[in-house]
Amino acid sequence: MPAPHRIAERMKQLDASGIRKVFDLAAKMSDPINLSIGQPHFDVPDEVKSEAIAAIKRGFNKYTQTQGIAELRQAVAQIVKEEIGWDVAIEAEPSRDSKTCLITSGTSGALLLAFMVLINPGDEVILLDPYFVMYKHLVNLVGGKAVIVDTYPDFLPDPQRIADAMTERTRLMVINSPCNPTGQVYQADLLKEIAQLAAGRDLLIISDEIYNLFCYDTPFCSIASFYDDTLLLRGFSKSYAMTGWRLGWCAGPADILEKMAMLQQYSFVCAPSPAQVAGVAALKCDMSEQVAQYRRKRDMVYQALAEPFGLIKPAGAFYAFVPAPKGMSGTEFVSLAIENNVLIIPGNVFSQKDTHFRLSYATSDEKLQEGLEILVKLAK
Ligand code: PMP
Repeated sequence: MPAPHRIAERMKQLDASGIRKVFDLAAKMSDPINLSIGQPHFDVPDEVKSEAIAAIKRGFNKYTQTQGIAELRQAVAQIVKEEIGWDVAIEAEPSRDSKTCLITSGTSGALLLAFMVLINPGDEVILLDPYFVMYKHLVNLVGGKAVIVDTYPDFLPDPQRIADAMTERTRLMVINSPCNPTGQVYQADLLKEIAQLAAGRDLLIISDEIYNLFCYDTPFCSIASFYDDTLLLRGFSKSYAMTGWRLGWCAGPADILEKMAMLQQYSFVCAPSPAQVAGVAALKCDMSEQVAQYRRKRDMVYQALAEPFGLIKPAGAFYAFVPAPKGMSGTEFVSLAIENNVLIIPGNVFSQKDTHFRLSYATSDEKLQEGLEILVKLAK
């Protein structure tokens, strides 16, 4: 037991009970069919590994500039120019009107820096439910208030509901398309409507685009293309399976990024240097084969679960957010699945509701097929 007062008050804002329960149950499983994992099952491309190894061998192991190495920042600037049309300056004046970029320790690193820089105690942050767990906890940690907008049943946010959730204290809104945990992808029309709402309130949008490569039915579209006051976050963890390398980037208004860089200097210092070198190579990799594989897996999941579970077709990332069978909560169905050797995560880990479960299809076709068959049997 920790001694009283030893742990800071702010830690009371965090709670890992939901996910801990699942992992406690999972620890008792001997060889589970694991459909719970939030990372690709393929490995880092060979050319990316070679670059990192070469960087380490030639001694590129020291701190880099806090902002990240110039080559990677230039590569990021080029992507942002091509996809969004923004002119990203490598050395920008810290003004609201100019754009710059920052290399971060994963997208998680960028999220923490951004929330610390942007949120005052009591400020409200609009999150769309279901949400990536980290958002809610980090908003709480910095003393903000998460204002949760329900997007059930199709997981496309209703702009009117977003408008209704806005108050004088609303500081920013987080959007995440393709979405973890729902696999939903927002189209240009919806993004334009959200942008309009934000513009009317002079609201900053944080767009977490970590799954941007994984869009199966339509090309990826960023809200940054329609809304200038966007902090755009991307990473290498999902696209190139570099989850353990801790590399991400952020582009957006230079006044915000200057403060994020300052805070990075006093916290993460810089993203891992060999990973930054490898990141330049990663951005040149063609991942279309891996994406095509995941599209096929998405199809397998949809084919198996559409009818027995009433699953809406997920369009991106590598998750399906599936309604639990009638009469059961998400947690109850997950317990049953775990008793039958399939590991999935209850929806209430990502939501105020406990009606669904999240399935990750980032696994081999064989394991996925086995897992789907068991889930379908259980639904019956
Ligand atoms: N955002 C979302 C939506 C995610 O799913 C994840 C990883 N699960 C992250 C951010 C963080 O990724 P990383 O820190 O590895 O870049």
